[in-house]
Amino acid sequence: TATKPRQPELKTALPGPQTQAIMARDAQHLSTSYMRPYPFVPDHGEGVWLTDVDGNTMLDFFAGIAVSTTGHAHPHVVKAVQEQVTKFSHVCLTDYPQEITTSLAERLVKHVERPGEKWRVFFGNSGAEAVEAAIKLARNHTGRSHVISTLGSFHGRTYGAITLTGSKTKYKRGFGPLLPGVTHVPYPNPFRPPLGSTPETCGQAVIDHIESLFQTVIPADEVAAIIIEPMQGEGGYIVPPADFLPGLRALCDKYGIMLIFDEVQAGMGRSGKMFSFQHFNVQPDIITLAKGIASGLPISAMLAKESVMTWPVGSHGSTFGGNPVAAAAAHATLDLLEGEVRHPGCGESLMQNASDVGTYIMNELRKMQAEFPFLGDVRGAGLFIGMEFVKPDGSPDGKLRDRASMAMFEKGLLNLDCGEAVIRISPPLILTREEAETGLGIMREALAGL
Ligand code: PMP
Repeated sequence: TATKPRQPELKTALPGPQTQAIMARDAQHLSTSYMRPYPFVPDHGEGVWLTDVDGNTMLDFFAGIAVSTTGHAHPHVVKAVQEQVTKFSHVCLTDYPQEITTSLAERLVKHVERPGEKWRVFFGNSGAEAVEAAIKLARNHTGRSHVISTLGSFHGRTYGAITLTGSKTKYKRGFGPLLPGVTHVPYPNPFRPPLGSTPETCGQAVIDHIESLFQTVIPADEVAAIIIEPMQGEGGYIVPPADFLPGLRALCDKYGIMLIFDEVQAGMGRSGKMFSFQHFNVQPDIITLAKGIASGLPISAMLAKESVMTWPVGSHGSTFGGNPVAAAAAHATLDLLEGEVRHPGCGESLMQNASDVGTYIMNELRKMQAEFPFLGDVRGAGLFIGMEFVKPDGSPDGKLRDRASMAMFEKGLLNLDCGEAVIRISPPLILTREEAETGLGIMREALAGL
């Protein structure tokens, strides 16, 4: 609309006085575990713009960690939530069915079911809960206990999920003992190929490595599941080589192992397809979803093939899981993602928009690599894009990344780091090409000033 901002508008020096006051109270009363990458306290949002408590309007390339699919306060989502909350906001899905969650499950499985293959859905509230449900189901179904996960992965902060997480020891230090029976293997990162492999061979190298473990340390018939992010999020926005996931599928089939795809960050249209694994012609047994499902309302889902979802009545549940208000927001989000409802300026659907605008951003960033040699790698799919900062010798440059992140913020671009030296670009999927240009302009200026 005509009233939408086109550029960030900074009315105060950052941080402004209200921001400082709230941050001081926050530091007094909230958990000491929270991180504060830069001083920002939101007051309200509209679309891809967030205005802080001092009236500074910023462009949001962070989206609450890849959550705000439809941007902030999308009218279609707001209306759906308002309508549901006047009916009822809770009854407990573990005990009563609710049409709004039944139809949400029906809509979600449509994106994964193949002819002759039915799927079912368990609803939770967070990514970690979806991951816990996936592990419990895999163990229950197979009667096996071991789980293989990847280095660099992030699966959440509950005990099972932090055990699976393989990225940073700060998530684990002082919290042990963790879940027994978890082994981590390298993730096939083509920019930094593990196990002495090359960008082309790193996928097969990881598969061979797992199979060698079956001969030496983990009997394959004790492995319940391999859990993996089809595109790795917190670890650095990494896209594996094309042959990797199909190869992993074949390995799992050979040994009767459940293949779990954690789509919490890359799923729900962000990669330009509903699920990021759909770029690779492969089908998992179990899928975990959260973040982007409901444009910010808390709901998560664990999807499993019907043949796998064999746990008995009463064996798993959640008081809040599948909350109807969050489910209403999820329906509205899906309306926009699938294109049943159009968002002005975003073509046929938000999923298509993520693909189109994401491709544009990635191409522009790749051009910027020629200008800025410290931009070692630009990768991703759709609006799931990572830019990795490197030293002249090619090693990761986390310090430069941190300076770049702060410089972007100071120019009005909300952004978030990941991995050792990566800035992720994970904006709302309603980002128009014009707004993308604004963001790219800020990034170029910030990088030029480093
Ligand atoms: N899995 C992945 C891939 C994630 O990126 C995250 C969150 N960053 C989680 C699981 C955990 O989600 P939550 O914080 O909602 O528990």
